[in-house]
Amino acid sequence: MATSESAQGRKIERLVKGRATSDGAGVKLTRVLTHDLQHRLDPFLMLDSFRNENPDDYMGGFPDHPHRGFETVTYMLAGRMRHHDSAGNTGLLGPGGVQWMTAGSGLIHSELPEQEEGLMEGFQLWLNLPSHRKMSAPSYRDIPSEAIPEIVLADGAKVRVIAGSSHGTQGAVVRPDTEPLYLDVHLPAGGKFEQPIPASHNAFVYVYRGEVRVAGSVVAERTMAILSNESDSVAIAAEAPARFILVAGKPLREPIAQHGPFVMNTMEQIEQTFRDYRDGFFEANAVRKD
Ligand code: FE
Repeated sequence: MATSESAQGRKIERLVKGRATSDGAGVKLTRVLTHDLQHRLDPFLMLDSFRNENPDDYMGGFPDHPHRGFETVTYMLAGRMRHHDSAGNTGLLGPGGVQWMTAGSGLIHSELPEQEEGLMEGFQLWLNLPSHRKMSAPSYRDIPSEAIPEIVLADGAKVRVIAGSSHGTQGAVVRPDTEPLYLDVHLPAGGKFEQPIPASHNAFVYVYRGEVRVAGSVVAERTMAILSNESDSVAIAAEAPARFILVAGKPLREPIAQHGPFVMNTMEQIEQTFRDYRDGFFEANAVRKD
């Protein structure tokens, strides 16, 4: 029988509000997982939350830009974004859908709104690649909303399993090395949700509607809670309806050298990346559709 202490699971180590900023061509967003948290939340490098009603705050989108050395995971809650990349692939990301792009050795892509009014809301998460996969062939997957497994648990939680697995349901994406867990959880009033997470994996919750409690402590709307690593599970409850993402992964424990959209292990690799970019390697790099 678990003691009440261990039954509480992981605790909140720190609450983070993030920083309002803009990126791309003037898209307003909140950078929740910032540079200074990259080691604490290894293998995650960045989390942006965007929620804009005013088209002026999103219409510019993210015109052509390169990436190398990691994966970008875009989850749309509302709105539509059109993706183009340097191999001529195109995809339309709609409400509830995910784009999982492995930049690997490099590509150039654009992410542009496919709407002129209404709410644009979602997240972009950056997931690092281990050193031996940073120069692997780029690939991407568009996962429409209906392809994301959804489960409803006895306590009323609705769980969309984007990556990893939850309560016996495997998610839309399973990745090696970092073993990411990415869940979108909707709790009804009085609902609760428990999830095993290996204690060695780093984990956080980001609440985007309402508020929740983790081991008795409140996490307010639009707040990230970094979870302590002392337990192999987390329990999250809500008094009123609430929605949050729960993200966890196995740390890589490798050096991180970042310059903007390039994330490698050493500055020499970053310098090589600049040379490759200048020399047109990124345009020429074929992108494979899974
Ligand atoms: Fe991008």
